Amino acid sequence: MIIVMRPGAPEADIARIQKLLAARGLGAHISIGESLTIIGVVGDKSRLDTEQLGLLPGVEKLVPIMEPYKLASLTFHPGRTSFTIRGVEFGGHELVQIAGPCAVESEEQLEITAAAVARAGARVLRGGAYKPRTSPYSFQGLEREGLRLLREAADRHGLLVISEITSEVDLEEAAEYVDIVQIGARNSQNFRLLSAVGRSGLPVLLKRGFAESIDELLSSTEYILSEGNYRLILCERGIRTFETATRSTLDLSAVPVLREKTHLPVFVDPSHAAGKASLVAPLARAAVAAGADGLIIEVHPNPPQARSDAAQQLTPAQYADLAAELARIAAVMGRGPEPA
Ligand code: PEP
Ligand code: MN
Repeated sequence: MIIVMRPGAPEADIARIQKLLAARGLGAHISIGESLTIIGVVGDKSRLDTEQLGLLPGVEKLVPIMEPYKLASLTFHPGRTSFTIRGVEFGGHELVQIAGPCAVESEEQLEITAAAVARAGARVLRGGAYKPRTSPYSFQGLEREGLRLLREAADRHGLLVISEITSEVDLEEAAEYVDIVQIGARNSQNFRLLSAVGRSGLPVLLKRGFAESIDELLSSTEYILSEGNYRLILCERGIRTFETATRSTLDLSAVPVLREKTHLPVFVDPSHAAGKASLVAPLARAAVAAGADGLIIEVHPNPPQARSDAAQQLTPAQYADLAAELARIAAVMGRGPEPA
């Protein structure tokens, strides 16, 4: 439920309501707009006498929220959430590009990739260090050493670092090296992991699960937001359908749908959806045109030799061409960066 206050309601009226909610063990999420102040009520509403609440001074009306999620909802939190990490704004004016290999393999691999993607305009270096794969006999990642290599390469080229964790056990170690924690499709509904990253306070990129509806994804976000962590990015990466021509079906409608339902930034990962390098550019272009706030794209200096996801990684040259095109589409969409 949200409590809409009368225009110009004095602070004392807002404070009175906050106190009443606290006395019932409920949280208050306050958004002060130019003309309107709204108070989002978090917790079990049955503890409230809503009739009495509606009559309090300053209260205009009470609006029930039908969705199972609250903190992520645009109704609860009007306006867009954006946040800045070391000069890079997420959910703001600029299209943010995240690029790098599927998995961290070596110092040389990262140096070539980081130099190339930074030159092409990417702001964040990606790379998996913990890679529990579909088969336990496949390459499992370099773990701490991989994170260290990622951090060093990113620092040499002025990039931020994002890397996936798959277990709460790895959170502390990852926190020493990354700027953003990635939660992958396989863990999108691993609720204890989501609560733990919420508590860590680290910025998070949460991917949609293979078989997760948009409302379920938004419910997953509540585990992070309810810990007070609002530095959260959502990422569409394709879902499982009957179609076999692509690795997953990129649900591009998720971009405008999410932008209607939530204030959180929305990114797209065309690489894992496509599963095939030739499809990455058209999907990436469409994602920007659909209104995505950013992209995450796999780039490898020698894709055929990659230890994971060889078929979908772009070469640095392919990525540079794509990044330049994306900047031009971003400009048409009224976003930065300015195309070269
Ligand atoms: C990844 O980005 O490295 C990854 C494993 O992606 P997803 O979780 O979308 O499969
Ligand atoms: Mn991958």
